[in-house]
Amino acid sequence: MSITTSLSSQDLMHYEDRYGAHNYHPIPVVLSKGDGVYVWDVEGKKYFDFLSAYSAINQGHCHPRIISTLKKQAEELTLTSRAFYNDQLGKYEKYITEYFGFDKVLPMNSGAEAVETAIKICRKWGYEKKGIAHGEALIIVCGENFHGRTTTIISFSSDPDARGNFGPYTPGFVSVPYDDIDTLGEVFAQQGKYIAGLLVEPIQGEAGVNVPGDDFIPRCAQLCAEHNILFIADEIQTGIARTGSLLAVCGNCTCEHACERGATYTRPDILILGKALSGGTYPVSAVLADDSIMEVITPGTHGSTYGGNPLACAVAMTALDVVVDEKLAQNARYLGAIFRERMQILVEKYNIVRSVRGKGLLNAILINDQPSSSTAWDICIQLAENGLLAKPTHGNIIRFAPPLVISEEELHQCCDIIEKVLSNYSDEP
Ligand SMILES: *Cc1c(COP(=O)(O)O)cnc(C)c1O
Repeated sequence: MSITTSLSSQDLMHYEDRYGAHNYHPIPVVLSKGDGVYVWDVEGKKYFDFLSAYSAINQGHCHPRIISTLKKQAEELTLTSRAFYNDQLGKYEKYITEYFGFDKVLPMNSGAEAVETAIKICRKWGYEKKGIAHGEALIIVCGENFHGRTTTIISFSSDPDARGNFGPYTPGFVSVPYDDIDTLGEVFAQQGKYIAGLLVEPIQGEAGVNVPGDDFIPRCAQLCAEHNILFIADEIQTGIARTGSLLAVCGNCTCEHACERGATYTRPDILILGKALSGGTYPVSAVLADDSIMEVITPGTHGSTYGGNPLACAVAMTALDVVVDEKLAQNARYLGAIFRERMQILVEKYNIVRSVRGKGLLNAILINDQPSSSTAWDICIQLAENGLLAKPTHGNIIRFAPPLVISEEELHQCCDIIEKVLSNYSDEP
């Protein structure tokens, strides 16, 4: 189609603006190609991708092995629905449960659907296993959480944009401040017999890469165990090697598979995955749990037409293979430390950047201006002009999360770009 390929970035942005709902505010670049850590716009300009589609592209853009599986499976069988068995689902279920160390998996598509699934499993477990009185089950969540966009999930968001005018809200959720184990302990002590689960992000990604204290996650799990409450980890953004271990709940454990042997591994009762589970090719999400929990789900109680489809299953197995074969967790851990070191130098050198935080290759810098200012946005525009794509979150925070296949040399080039742009800003009054 020669007409569409000749459209400029300006034309294409205009189309989105004119014909698409305005539910996003993108950085003004129009991308048409990706390979590894690089993306190209329609005019052919090359960029480093430092967002990785919110950590869905951990394996890099268009990873050849994942694309090959996608093409191969697409030519065989794509969708059967769960009315019938298919020849990929069982293999995938065996593979992913062994990979992450759980008895069972429930396959879904988007991250928000997986969170909804976990909430349903948790509530049902609360009534049928814990014996909570009908309709009384509570799930504890954390302030500034991000778990997706459904009406139930936004009901327990603290972001006014995410929840405003979308009520009436789903009841049954209680929010406590993030990384505040004392308040959590008090809520458990007071209402423990009504509490079915605790839903937590091991690092809050959307909130601006909030990294809790080292003992927060282990102590959450411990408190949950003491009160017979399910510890639910939303690792949709932090999981699958992003933070320098297979899962962020692994703490500093370096082994390639989630296991119970790692001294620092906190094992969630329910693990939620999405995003990089397909390496950015296809929406694939999953909820993992052991039999004593997953057995509350029986035929007819939950489902999805596309959940567990053979295309998704095949792609996810290859995407997870790549994570281990290419040692992405180890790379994220090694390069993340270098990245934060280089950013720390900028923090000390330039007023414009207040601090750097993160783990593995999930990092953020805090820009020294009000969250309501446009400074972080303007910096991201400058970064794009210099060939690096990133996006602000919460006004004055810039998240940096490149594909985990980035090399040390490429990372240094990116740090040079960031330094160049920030140094320009610091010269201004
Ligand atoms: C992205 C994200 C979700 C939602 O995933 P979608 O695929 O966008 O529905 C949920 N939880 C966390 C922590 C996320 O980062």
